[in-house]
Amino acid sequence: MSATNMQVLLANRPVGWVKESDFRIVETPVPTPGDGQVLVKNLYLSLDPYMRGRMNDARSYAAKVELGDVMTGETVGEIVKSNHPKFAVGDTVVGRVGWQRYALSDGKDLRKVDPKAVPISTYLGVVGMPGVTAYIGLLDIGQPKPGETVVVSAASGAVGSVVGQLAKMKGCRAVGIAGGKAKCDFVVKELGFDACVDHRAGDLGKALAEATPKGIDVYFENVGGPILDHVLLRCNPFARIPLCGMVSQYNATDDRYGVKNLMMGVAMRIKLQGFIVSDHLDRWPEALAQLAQWVREGKIKYRETVTEGLENAPRAFIGLLKGENFGKQLVKLA
Ligand code: NDP
Repeated sequence: MSATNMQVLLANRPVGWVKESDFRIVETPVPTPGDGQVLVKNLYLSLDPYMRGRMNDARSYAAKVELGDVMTGETVGEIVKSNHPKFAVGDTVVGRVGWQRYALSDGKDLRKVDPKAVPISTYLGVVGMPGVTAYIGLLDIGQPKPGETVVVSAASGAVGSVVGQLAKMKGCRAVGIAGGKAKCDFVVKELGFDACVDHRAGDLGKALAEATPKGIDVYFENVGGPILDHVLLRCNPFARIPLCGMVSQYNATDDRYGVKNLMMGVAMRIKLQGFIVSDHLDRWPEALAQLAQWVREGKIKYRETVTEGLENAPRAFIGLLKGENFGKQLVKLA
């Protein structure tokens, strides 16, 4: 094969905000699969906020990326060589094979998907890990009931956009929190949320109160920081807060935000529960099948930001952490 492989390696452990120089891009020969292995040609790479945590040498739920290793990440790709009985050349697969054009795999981390069922990019977003995160986090942990008010932050993003649409399906009032007018307009006009509050537009407490006249019953937490404090003040008795992520804090060092209104958790008997989507593998088949069906039927809408070229992945990842993405952030490789 004459093509060369391109890989994005972790060069430095960032302190504070990630820099492009924390990555190193290398060109290497395309590897040859051994017995029981396949060669995957990656078509799309998913960029996700959790990757910031993998760059740290810190206690977490998953192993860090070692310096000099290929950055971890999920891709959708095509099998181009196979020495594995379960995979044939031409199969479309999703797997955690990293930021690289070509990857070897023993198949354990690969899942075959149907390229005709939904657009293949959605297997990394609405019909993939972020969609399943929304499904499990909202339905299993948030347990919304008809008539309740569900608020979600990062509402136009990969996870948040699905949370609000599921909340509407459950007969709830869905309120988003997003950065900027364009994202808020999208959330209300395209996705069908009842309201959206722009967290960059000034008095968030007042705007949130106006958008949640009956208080908040479920808050799907994606960002942390001062937004959580405003939400805590609006929570109804026995509210549920699935703690999904805190992207506003991922690059924080000494300026990490200290939550001030946690006493509301006692006063309102709020249930806060952190969760990691990969702990709930038994729920994935149902969630994936259901999300794919809703996407095909047009009942769940989605938006993607597609960056062209693996060499631009570091810049796109930094943009994602700053909110420059609009919907699911992907990198197109081929
Ligand atoms: P998004 O597509 O939503 O992108 C991240 C968004 O975060 C940005 O677009 C931006 O939206 C928002 N944001 C960034 N900085 C701030 C800030 N300082 N204050 C408020 N908002 C900010 O990402 P995902 O949908 O992929 O992920 C959403 C969350 O879910 C993340 O916290 C992620 O870590 C978490 N997650 C957790 C999983 C789990 O198993 N627990 C699995 C998957 C994701 P805006 O411009 O609107 O502010």
